[in-house]
Amino acid sequence: DALLRLEGVSKRYRRSGLLALDDVSIWVGAGERVGLMGPSGSGKSTLACIAAGLLSPNAGHVRFDGVERSGGGRLPRGRSAAVRRAWLGMQMVFQDPEASFIPTMRLGDAVFEGARYLPRFKGADKDRLVREALEAVELPGSYAERFPYELSGGECQRAAIARAVIGRPKLLLCDEATSALDVTVQAKVMALLGRVHRELGTAFLFIGHNPALVGGFCDRIYRIGGGRITEELEACERP
Ligand code: ADP
Ligand code: ADP
Repeated sequence: DALLRLEGVSKRYRRSGLLALDDVSIWVGAGERVGLMGPSGSGKSTLACIAAGLLSPNAGHVRFDGVERSGGGRLPRGRSAAVRRAWLGMQMVFQDPEASFIPTMRLGDAVFEGARYLPRFKGADKDRLVREALEAVELPGSYAERFPYELSGGECQRAAIARAVIGRPKLLLCDEATSALDVTVQAKVMALLGRVHRELGTAFLFIGHNPALVGGFCDRIYRIGGGRITEELEACERP
């Protein structure tokens, strides 16, 4: 089965009454890079939040790594532990680099947050782990002592990637992850994400609005418009 599958997902925002997602079904295979492209307001972030479990759908199902998470309501105790465990394998990188960090938390602690809930990192050498994670995104290990505001936008986004991949997630959900960066920094971050994919076999749900960028990175692309999937493209028919 697919690594991530959304099936018949709908979301209506209660306050506005707006139907932000209307019967959306998408999937991402293990190690696959899937793009989600559409204009502003088309429902991309809503879909990302539902996939990540930050938002509950009104209808439909979300399945990740063999575990299903259904709409509203509390899950029975045993199930919620299974859901939490599975979803640790999905990490997010947001558009605003600083959005991944708490302003008062040093980078080392923040990056380690990406690993500390994983059983296999119990008793791990935190300083070494963090230093290696920072160096993997080409930031000096000494940045562990810095605060997020002491980094440039590009550096901060690389630190967000370090936090996201330190635990070797199965899927990295990137929501306009390079859109706030200037073009040269954007290219560096894309190269870094490509390396993450090659070296760790990480799958991606890569959300963006720039066809060249999304098309250049992804194996398969969904187009979304007005809360509905309007098209699915293979890499060979890149826009
Ligand atoms: P995108 O990420 O493609 O720009 P969003 O998922 O952010 O789209 O938004 C989809 C639609 O839902 C938009 O019309 C937006 O105004 C609306 N929307 C997003 N968040 C909320 C919210 N918290 N409350 C009400 N409406 C929202
Ligand atoms: P980038 O090309 O990655 O966006 P910048 O040109 O913005 O980098 O920043 C260059 C250098 O200045 C970076 O190495 C960063 O460490 C440093 N720097 C940027 N902003 C700050 C800040 N607010 N406090 C301390 N150092 C900073």
